[in-house]
Amino acid sequence: MYALKRELKLNKKERSLMRGMAGFKRFVYNYALDLITASWDFDGVKLGDSKRLDAIKKVFTQVTMNKSEYAWTKKYPSTVYQSAFQDLKNAFSRWRRGLGEFPVKKSKKKGDSFTVYKTSGIYPKKGNPAIPFTNRVVINQGKNIVLPGIKTFRLKEGIDFICSAQTFTVSRTADRWFVSFVLDVEKVPPVIHPIEKMGVDLGVKTLATCSDGTTYAMPITTKIAKTKLQLLQWRNRNKVLGNKKLKIRASKNAHKFYAKVAKKHARIANIRQDTTQNMTTDLSRKAYIIRIEDLNVQGMIANSKLADAVSNNCFYEIRRQLTYKQSFYGTKVELVDRWYPSSKQCCKCHHVQPMNLSQRVFHCQSCGHLQCRDENASINLKDAPSNQVRLAQP
Ligand SMILES: [Zn+2]
Repeated sequence: MYALKRELKLNKKERSLMRGMAGFKRFVYNYALDLITASWDFDGVKLGDSKRLDAIKKVFTQVTMNKSEYAWTKKYPSTVYQSAFQDLKNAFSRWRRGLGEFPVKKSKKKGDSFTVYKTSGIYPKKGNPAIPFTNRVVINQGKNIVLPGIKTFRLKEGIDFICSAQTFTVSRTADRWFVSFVLDVEKVPPVIHPIEKMGVDLGVKTLATCSDGTTYAMPITTKIAKTKLQLLQWRNRNKVLGNKKLKIRASKNAHKFYAKVAKKHARIANIRQDTTQNMTTDLSRKAYIIRIEDLNVQGMIANSKLADAVSNNCFYEIRRQLTYKQSFYGTKVELVDRWYPSSKQCCKCHHVQPMNLSQRVFHCQSCGHLQCRDENASINLKDAPSNQVRLAQP
């Protein structure tokens, strides 16, 4: 299984449509939760949660939806309320098995989301077996996506292969909307890699340096966004979101401030995600074997000085992305032992010499070879002997 997530490019009208559908889903979920808990109080009928919810669904579609004040519910595809009922069934089942808390009402604060899916397929007619049964939506190459039951939407970043999926979940983070869906791996065309083996040196200053000479930089915008966020938080250091015990209501300005902070946090996370996702996709398309250093990420985060740099450059995240993209792009991700002297060894004559972190250029004391420190390391990673290498496990 392989999941894709893409940001939607929406206009004002589409945004309000999305908000409307998320609101519809929330409404149905809360409605069914209210009715099922109320039904336990007075009826003597012995019914399981699932059967009870099916009965409630019948009341919803045959009575409630037909009332004039609920006419708006008919604007939206039926899969939205179907999936709301399904979500609630799952929540109850998890709770009964002791795997989750008792389901609570959904609120706007927790973010918006809803699910749509393709309901029925084309069944093969008698005498025409050429048309196969399908309940999947074909997603074409490019920047458009059809959400079943709604319409075609634009994507910010295109999809570069033909694929198909059945269920689409739309969600909102701060003020950006995303769609995610699961693909069948078998249906993905084989990828031909132009490079057989590539070493990738992950760094603090440059995000990644590759043995073929390409580099990936961390966008300066994260640093700017972070500084702006810190400034905003310092200026509002005394602002609190009301106090329930003292019955002080949160001010409008406090609400505005917290919305702004959430938006800025989301922006920083988004820039990082975009950068690392683009990079790992690019690498997975380019090379068949991708070799990175097996870093002790836990150990590095404990070291407070490097902590910000490490989390900022998201070494671990890059490794995770490269690893899960293996099955999709047909790549092999190999981890080079962390004691292998990738930055201390000359890539030409294999002479090993001490190198401290401040030395940005490798100057071989044996053969005189001169090269950028990270480039030299990436070539060493590529050429590491096989007993120093292990396959990354997803
Ligand atoms: Zn040398």
